Amino acid sequence: MSYNALHEFLSKNLNELKEKGLYRKLPVVTGPTGPRAIVNGREVINLSSNNYLGLANDPRLVEAAIKATEKYGAGAGAVRTIVGTLDIHEELEQKLATFKKAEAVIVFQSGFNCNMGTVGALMTKEDAILSDELNHASIIDGCRLSGAKVLRYKHNNMDDLRRVIKEARDSGLYKKLMIIFDGVFSMDGDIVNLPEIVKIADEYEAFTYIDDAHASGVLGKGGRGTVSHFDLYGRVDCQIGTLSKGIGVIGGYVAGTKELIDWLKLRGRPFLFSTAITPGAAGACIKAVEILSESTELVDKLWDNTRYFKSRMKEAGFDIGRSETPITPVIIGNEAKAMQFSDELYKEGLFVSGIAFPTVPRGTARVRNIVTAAHTKDMLDEAVHIYEKVAKKLNVL
Ligand SMILES: *Cc1c(COP(=O)(O)O)cnc(C)c1O
Repeated sequence: MSYNALHEFLSKNLNELKEKGLYRKLPVVTGPTGPRAIVNGREVINLSSNNYLGLANDPRLVEAAIKATEKYGAGAGAVRTIVGTLDIHEELEQKLATFKKAEAVIVFQSGFNCNMGTVGALMTKEDAILSDELNHASIIDGCRLSGAKVLRYKHNNMDDLRRVIKEARDSGLYKKLMIIFDGVFSMDGDIVNLPEIVKIADEYEAFTYIDDAHASGVLGKGGRGTVSHFDLYGRVDCQIGTLSKGIGVIGGYVAGTKELIDWLKLRGRPFLFSTAITPGAAGACIKAVEILSESTELVDKLWDNTRYFKSRMKEAGFDIGRSETPITPVIIGNEAKAMQFSDELYKEGLFVSGIAFPTVPRGTARVRNIVTAAHTKDMLDEAVHIYEKVAKKLNVL
């Protein structure tokens, strides 16, 4: 009986997706996910990765990963709290703390895990969380897990945040208040209004939690993140970063006061109950942080490419939304059409994934480009040319 119920549920839902043209197979990459990549057997220009700085395929990181693997082995062997804390995990945490100008850092297995572990370690069912309506899925899930009351405010809308937080404060229902938001919003590429949020937080005695996944290695001086971008050091209580996007490897971290990090080492559940990142990953991450600490060259190249691609796409007449970062959406609207657009780009030699509901609101389906430091201007020119060709064919412009 239970088998039939499950089967019915799955086939009904899968068929529904197929009918809507939203059923997707995973694209398979043969070899590195670089600026060009072989996707499903075809060589294409790749404008879909989070490999902002090209570090995922950087020979210096590969070498560091091999060296650490040779010294420590393939796996960490245990969770951090038992016997899985290797000295290179601590070295990585120290290097990140210096890079972020924070008192301390704790490394989790992923950015997703940071949010799973941290929100619930700080907030309980007696508290309320003010959450931007476009926050990343891992923030939403982390908030749910905490059991705190979640109060959503309109995307990056400071009047609405003020309205919601005032109501929460005046109600007298909650012990603690926390405002939580992405630094760079992953689907639109816009930057959070941090200067205003820290003022509101002060006024209402709330604390602040930023998820800087798409800002890590991208925004601020040498890629130090949103706090650096606005020069608001000391004004944000909890900063999440990822090691899997700009930094190019795997893992996530929380930067903050020594007290915060001490607490998370005792109460951040994925830290306690899931094995530490591999020695190879830790070694490669250390190398990446060293590269970013020494020079802003890669980050500068990323922004130069970003400005170039955006201006060319605008000239060509595409709706590239409100992005202020390398994330460059091309908004199509209709969901099936966006998927078809992505398929046609692929046939012409450009890999850009289509994104639809529930990842973005209905009616705002898009293809999303992420420019990287590893692209050449020639590749970007070629990409724009392919866009123009496909737009003409599908009557999109
Ligand atoms: C990608 C992303 C994450 C997840 O990071 P991983 O390190 O890949 O798990 C978390 N939060 C935001 C805002 C993201 O964009």
